[in-house]
Amino acid sequence: MITLALSKGRIFEETLPLLAAAGIQVLEDPESSRKLILPTNQPDVRVVLVRATDVPTYVAYGGADIGVAGRDVLIEHGGAGLYQPLDLQIAQCRMSVAVRDDFDYAGVVQQGSRLRVATKYTSIARQHFAEKGVHVDLIKLYGSMELAPLTGLADAIVDLVSTGSTLKANRLVEVERIMDISSRLVVNQAALKLKREALKPLIDAIAAAVGQPA
Ligand code: ADP
Ligand code: MG
Repeated sequence: MITLALSKGRIFEETLPLLAAAGIQVLEDPESSRKLILPTNQPDVRVVLVRATDVPTYVAYGGADIGVAGRDVLIEHGGAGLYQPLDLQIAQCRMSVAVRDDFDYAGVVQQGSRLRVATKYTSIARQHFAEKGVHVDLIKLYGSMELAPLTGLADAIVDLVSTGSTLKANRLVEVERIMDISSRLVVNQAALKLKREALKPLIDAIAAAVGQPA
């Protein structure tokens, strides 16, 4: 049995065509089913639905053999125990710094003042501001980051941006682009050895589907 960990939403939706290219069809829709384990047309392949941030944990500890996780999530997790053979080029977005449209970010940076930054991505934010030599107080949040600068909780946020419409709707502006983000295939290192006969063809088929023969 091969267990594939996916998160609901865009990663699930954008992984489906890649699985189809490998001959795998998921037999239930996670938006309408309450099941957390979804069967596929392949009796020895199943999908488990987990939170995006839990995908690396499931795969690293063998709760799943393989999974799909965002680069954001993988950097924050650290990636220990994971083999990352492929960038799937799906769930593309960027990690950015955003502030209220009336906040003088350049001035604060230039003056060397402390910056209060709210984010779910504390490792990425810490490293980014350390490289810039900006002193920051990081405030860990788990969601609705856009609210932090509007309520005075923070001066800036570090968050994922794709179209920018959420920022705009909340009168925030993107002032720095930290890195481009996409999702990657992650594989349990022990499973890759023990289940190689089943996993290798699956990884190769997905690699071919994304145009990067592994
Ligand atoms: P959650 O709501 O559980 O944090 P999301 O579905 O928002 O999870 O995000 C899951 C993954 O999808 C993220 O880790 C990231 O890699 C990617 N992602 C998040 N937001 C966007 C976006 N706006 N556009 C494209 N990909 C995104
Ligand atoms: Mg989200």
